Amino acid sequence: MSSRCLWVGSALCVSLLFLSLHFSASTLTETQAQAAPQPSTLQGRLEFVFGDAQDGKTAVSKYFVYAAGKRTELIFSRNPWHGYFGKEVMVTGTLATPQGGGPPAMFVSSISLAPGERAEPPLPAVTGTRKIIMLLVRYSGDLQQPHVPSWYTGIINPSTGNTVNSFYLSSSWGQFGWTADATNWMLLPGSKTTYANCGWSSACAQLTTLFDDAVNAGVANGVNFALYDNIAIVTNNDLDCCAWGGSMVYNGKLYGTVWEPPWSAQQGTFSHELGHSIDLPHSGWVYYAYDSPWDVMSKSSIYNLQACGTYVSANDGGATDTIYCPTPEDHIGAHKDVLGWIDAVHLLTVPAGSSATGVAVDALAAPLSTSRKLIKICVAGYDCTSGGATARYYTAEVRAHYGSSPFDFYLLNEGVIIHFYQGDRPAQQPNSCFFNDQSGPAYPIDNFNVVPAPHYIGPPTCSEWVSGQRRGLYYANWNDGQTFDSGAGPRIEILNHYASGSVVTYVLNIFPSSITSNSVSGPAGFDFRLSNSGSTSNAGGITVVHGSSGSITITVSLVNGPAQSVSLICSGLPAGASCGFSSPSGSPTFSSTLTISTAGSTPVGYFTIKVIGTGGGLSRSTFFTLRVS
Ligand SMILES: [Zn+2]
Repeated sequence: MSSRCLWVGSALCVSLLFLSLHFSASTLTETQAQAAPQPSTLQGRLEFVFGDAQDGKTAVSKYFVYAAGKRTELIFSRNPWHGYFGKEVMVTGTLATPQGGGPPAMFVSSISLAPGERAEPPLPAVTGTRKIIMLLVRYSGDLQQPHVPSWYTGIINPSTGNTVNSFYLSSSWGQFGWTADATNWMLLPGSKTTYANCGWSSACAQLTTLFDDAVNAGVANGVNFALYDNIAIVTNNDLDCCAWGGSMVYNGKLYGTVWEPPWSAQQGTFSHELGHSIDLPHSGWVYYAYDSPWDVMSKSSIYNLQACGTYVSANDGGATDTIYCPTPEDHIGAHKDVLGWIDAVHLLTVPAGSSATGVAVDALAAPLSTSRKLIKICVAGYDCTSGGATARYYTAEVRAHYGSSPFDFYLLNEGVIIHFYQGDRPAQQPNSCFFNDQSGPAYPIDNFNVVPAPHYIGPPTCSEWVSGQRRGLYYANWNDGQTFDSGAGPRIEILNHYASGSVVTYVLNIFPSSITSNSVSGPAGFDFRLSNSGSTSNAGGITVVHGSSGSITITVSLVNGPAQSVSLICSGLPAGASCGFSSPSGSPTFSSTLTISTAGSTPVGYFTIKVIGTGGGLSRSTFFTLRVS
């Protein structure tokens, strides 16, 4: 039995198969190399690729320098700053054969920008439309075609609904989007084992060989690569552990490049890998890999799993695996700022030691209004511009559901999310649950007022599920009456919030800290949370045969009082299904039995059901999986 742990489908992940794996590709050390030292320097483009594992737990990275028409793998003892990605760099180190063989790699002792190159901010804004050529490639000896070419362009191009272009247009407020063309399925010269001679458990993919062969197939089929900015290599079967995203040089031009095996060729993972191709790192990495549900560059794409295909999985021993198409949630404000998407009208920068009172900030996923989208609060003595290596600042943004937008619809909680951005943030490997060191500069400041510690169970369990709740950074939202005081940085007071139409707006005060270390106070007002009896594991929920009904218990718990009435509704139902509550409203703490009735016409599949509680001007949610068989 194979594990069914999609990186974007953790709601169905029931296996910890990967806990003990070792990813050696990017962790070789010089002492493991075999050849005699040959110190040298190369100048060329820095290519990088992030690998995101299907299990949703493991991340790896690879680096290359493309110099004088030749590509050399780079092995760092510490990953280079993301501002170097895609730039002309000079790397000095020792060329040696990596453990396991292969062409010589450089064990890097130093990296710097080439003369005249600029990686420090302000970087050029990422705007306009980037064109993707999707190279659909079949492994030799494997005839399957998981989807027709128009299906792949269909998850990218439309400007509305759950597509990659729609997501980026929404996230950038119309400033940046994607368009894609797809080839027909083309035959590769090598078999699956030629390009990835391993299963889910290691990062063995020969990415550059696959890149070269796929591009050659494209050339042979008439693709004019000069017309495109990005190359997406879509394979008809699995690679190794991962889907990959970054950039590669071809014909002297740097292309954003993604490698998408069947399980990852969907809106959520595509949006994530394309984020890497515009130089975005991950965010979060406070407790474990992919621990922030507030960012598509962390773990936001796990909701609204809609089955959208199948394939015969090489890594699962020939089993037929379902492909799921989830909905991504937004890019964080700190990354939107680095990408140049937040103009001066919607960004409030508060200098270190200064104050700003009564600042209105509205939901990040909502259209632009006269309110701010992001507050950036500078830290004394550090760069406060756009995210360079010497930058340190706090950001505050509002995350809430907006209207009928599918993006940020599946947030578990709503409120103000505070990130700390540290441009030179060191790799996070505090325990064996991290599996990797891929943390980026930004991470949410967790809030223990809504749900107390622990928010994570460390080694050897390594679980975000605590007392039947998915915690991690899911409760990093700050709400009315709460104050975060950072010590050396700001004091951030959340005054109140209101809704105008579909748009939720929070009002904040920013003051210099009056204390010497982080502290939290509040909440002062009414707050509550939702949980459900099915969510004690990733696989929890309701399973029904279509035409019948099933039930689950929803609990509305009082976090802070005095209590106010909370009303319950559900959403995300498949066609022909309806839901009802034994108690549609009540005063927390109370429980209500939710019954979902399906019709004979209800489609078979997995559906993410969102239960929303509203009361006292707050909105809280819980999710479970409805399986209709
Ligand atoms: Zn990634």
